[in-house]
Amino acid sequence: QPVTTNMQTLTEEIEKFANNKKVEIETLKIREGYRKEFLGNISHELKTPLFTVQGYILTLLDGAMDDKQIRKKYLVRASKGVERLIYIVRDLDMITRLEAGDLHLELENFDIVELIQGVFDMMEMKAHKKDITLTFDTVYKKPIMVHADRERIQQVVSNLVVNSIKYSKASSTTEVSIEDLVKNKVIVRITDNGEGIQSQNLTRIFERFYRVDKSGSRKEGGSGLGLAIVKHIIEAHKEKIYVESVYGVGSEFSFTLEKTKESTKV
Ligand code: ADP
Repeated sequence: QPVTTNMQTLTEEIEKFANNKKVEIETLKIREGYRKEFLGNISHELKTPLFTVQGYILTLLDGAMDDKQIRKKYLVRASKGVERLIYIVRDLDMITRLEAGDLHLELENFDIVELIQGVFDMMEMKAHKKDITLTFDTVYKKPIMVHADRERIQQVVSNLVVNSIKYSKASSTTEVSIEDLVKNKVIVRITDNGEGIQSQNLTRIFERFYRVDKSGSRKEGGSGLGLAIVKHIIEAHKEKIYVESVYGVGSEFSFTLEKTKESTKV
C-alpha cells in the first residue's frame, strides 16, 4: 500500500478518536452540570425545614421551654419540620432509584376502585381541613381489576390527589373517575377546579424540583419531586400520563393502566 494512503487513514483515525473524545467530554460536562444542579436543588429544599427546626429548638433553649404551652406548641412545629425532612429524603431516595432504573415493578392484579377509595380515606382529613370535597364516580363502584405495581400506583394516585388539594382554594372539588379505553386499557382521571397551570409551565411541571410558584408551593410543603416520581412510575409501566389545565379554572391529570384479561368491561 502506498505510504500516503496509510498516512491518510492514520490521520482520519486520529481525527475520529479526537472527535469521539470531544463528545465524551461534552457528555461528561453535561452530566456534571446536572449533578451540580441536582445537589444545589437538594440543599435548597433541605435548608428551609432545617432552619425552621433549628429556630424552634434554639427558642426553646433560650427560655421558651419554661412555659408549658409554648413548649408543646414549638415541639409540635419542630416535629412537623422533621416530618417534612423525612418526606423530602424519601422522595429523593425514590427519584434516585427511579432515575438509575433500579426499581423493578412488582406486578399483580388488584382492584383499582378499592385502591382509590383507600387513598380517599387517607386524604379525608387533609381535604376536610380545606373544605374540599373528594368525589369518585359512583357508576364505577365495582371491582375493576388492573395489572400493575399496586404500591407504586397508590403513590401515583395519592401524589395527584394531594396536589389537587394543595393547589385548590377552599370549598373546591376533586373528582376521580375511571373510563374504558381501547385495547384492554382504562384511564384514571384526577380532576380539580383549583388554580390551574399556565400553558408555558405545563410542559415543565414533570421536571424534578420544578415549581410554578416557588413561594406559594413552598408554603404548601412538598419536595417538587411528586410529579417527576409520578411520571417515572407510569412510564416504567409503559403507560401514558397526560395533563390538561386552564389557568384559573382547574386541572386534569390522567394516566392509563392495563386491565387484567379476565376483567369485565367497566
Ligand atoms: P410540589 O407539589 O412538591 O411542589 P410536584 O412535582 O408535585 O411538586 O408539582 C410541581 C408543580 O406543579 C407544583 O409546584 C405546582 O406548581 C404544579 N401543580 C401540580 N399539580 C397541580 C394542580 N393540581 N393544580 C395546579 N398546579 C399544580
